[in-house]
Amino acid sequence: MNKIKVGILGVTGMVGQSYVKLLQNHPWFDVVDFAASSNSAGKMYSKVVSKKWLMDGEIPKKYLNFIIRDIHNFEDIPNDVKLFFSALDLKNKESTRNFEFSYAKKGYALVSNSSANRWTDDVPMIIPEINPHHTEIIFSQQQIRKLPSTGFVTVKPNCSIQSYLIGLFSLQKSGYPLKDVQVTTLQALSGAGAKGITNPEWHKNIIPFIKGEEEKTEQEPLKILGKIQSGKIKKSNIFNISATCIRVPVIHGHSAVVQINFESNIPSKEEIIKIWNTFKPDVYEFNLPSAPKKTIIYRKESDRPQVKADVNNQNGMAITFGRLKNDKFFDYKIIGLSHNTIRGAAGGAILTAELLVKKGFIKYG
Ligand code: NAP
Repeated sequence: MNKIKVGILGVTGMVGQSYVKLLQNHPWFDVVDFAASSNSAGKMYSKVVSKKWLMDGEIPKKYLNFIIRDIHNFEDIPNDVKLFFSALDLKNKESTRNFEFSYAKKGYALVSNSSANRWTDDVPMIIPEINPHHTEIIFSQQQIRKLPSTGFVTVKPNCSIQSYLIGLFSLQKSGYPLKDVQVTTLQALSGAGAKGITNPEWHKNIIPFIKGEEEKTEQEPLKILGKIQSGKIKKSNIFNISATCIRVPVIHGHSAVVQINFESNIPSKEEIIKIWNTFKPDVYEFNLPSAPKKTIIYRKESDRPQVKADVNNQNGMAITFGRLKNDKFFDYKIIGLSHNTIRGAAGGAILTAELLVKKGFIKYG
């Protein structure tokens, strides 16, 4: 079967480069279109990116001569492209919302990393291990917005919540409802894109503020755990979250210190670790190519998870936990870690797109 033709918007940036790396040998997707701003448009990818390539290894050879398209130029989109991954960082959220739907209106599926449409109530915000059923909202999105049958927008949530939400969901699902979650994230420089890695002010420094991040960290889990009602995703009030988000001088890898209280039924430490070690989300049944064999890894050593040792677990798609212990003010305290540009951005979006293919929203041919 021919592969599905895809494009990458924002292909020159941090997340865009991560897509280029992850998709180079993808079994289902064939990247045929690169797009970015008018500054990069018309230029060869190697010329634009060679001095700012941020991934390990070389730029994949097959993409060196790709000519970058302006994201607003629809005429030069190659034939038969079905899906766009968007790694754009546009200034204005309102225009980003509309811009993403301009691709859907042309009949393209779009999976976005931007926060612009995360709170649009007919746009699913998907972590495939948690809410694969939210893809069903796409039917209402297409009907109400009069989109072509192949066009729609889905989004990926914020990178910081990836470091623990699947772990909390697995406890909730195993019959241990949570009441309170207090989280302090320690977020890598690459979380702010290419400009974050090169910002001299952030090196050897800790910045106790990331604009908008605490609000996203407190609210996005509630949409992901929400229910579809009358063509909209209604946010859950399943537990309370309080978040503090801090930038730390690490290149890739968001850590999170998470303190939790359960409603009433409190699992033992052994039970929690067993739930994580045996976690098998429904989405495993689809055998998606980018799905980790084990989504949650628990490290027993007292000094793990560590960014250097654990961030690339399962090709950067695992969530690694450690240091589960009782806490004076909460039932438990844990530390989680995930790769922000892989699980938290491009890798997570590719996994979502694979789910959309399996569910028939994106078709071959
Ligand atoms: P980035 O490194 O700054 O890259 C931004 C990309 O957007 C570049 O390709 C740039 O193209 C393009 N762009 C910027 N302004 C544009 C314009 N006016 N018109 C067309 N293209 C424009 O940012 P990033 O870290 O990759 O983030 C991309 C998106 O993913 C953001 O929405 C971010 O919030 C989200 N995200 C990032 C992470 C992470 O870990 N970094 C995680 C989750 C989500 P030019 O090079 O041509 O200017």
